[in-house]
Amino acid sequence: MSITKDKVVQFHYALHDADKTVEETTRGGSPMAYLHGHNNMIKGLEQAMEGKAVGDTFSVTLAAKDAYGEHQPDSEQRIPVKHLQGAKKWRPGMVGTVQTEQGQRQVTVVKVGKFMVTVDNNHPLAGKELTFDIDILDIRDATAEEVAHGHAHGAGGHHH
Ligand code: ZN
Repeated sequence: MSITKDKVVQFHYALHDADKTVEETTRGGSPMAYLHGHNNMIKGLEQAMEGKAVGDTFSVTLAAKDAYGEHQPDSEQRIPVKHLQGAKKWRPGMVGTVQTEQGQRQVTVVKVGKFMVTVDNNHPLAGKELTFDIDILDIRDATAEEVAHGHAHGAGGHHH
């Protein structure tokens, strides 16, 4: 079985930047699962997954614009600290989550006040060329419910 639309894929990955600094990895923990063909991952990565099989290991390098976008200047914004989710106490450099009309968004804390916090709306990995080292662990057909929801359920996927 290879990866095509409406397959649920489990994989391990390590993500590093051009300096080989590892930014994120699932190795040593639970793998990630996603539903292929539903824009659940950044586009360049999903395209690289197409047609791969269980046991395949490969690397894909994406320019910033194909990964998390170029770093946009003037993206700082002051928001009420209560709108920032992910920690109780904030320090500059921490990454939090805010709800927007387009869904959840990761932001980086720049300055912390008592009630207001200044955040940078760029994704923490914006402006970086990124390489994903991928191991494909499992591929299965999605259930009708998963296809209807547009995401994977179960291990590594959504729980609700
Ligand atoms: Zn669901």
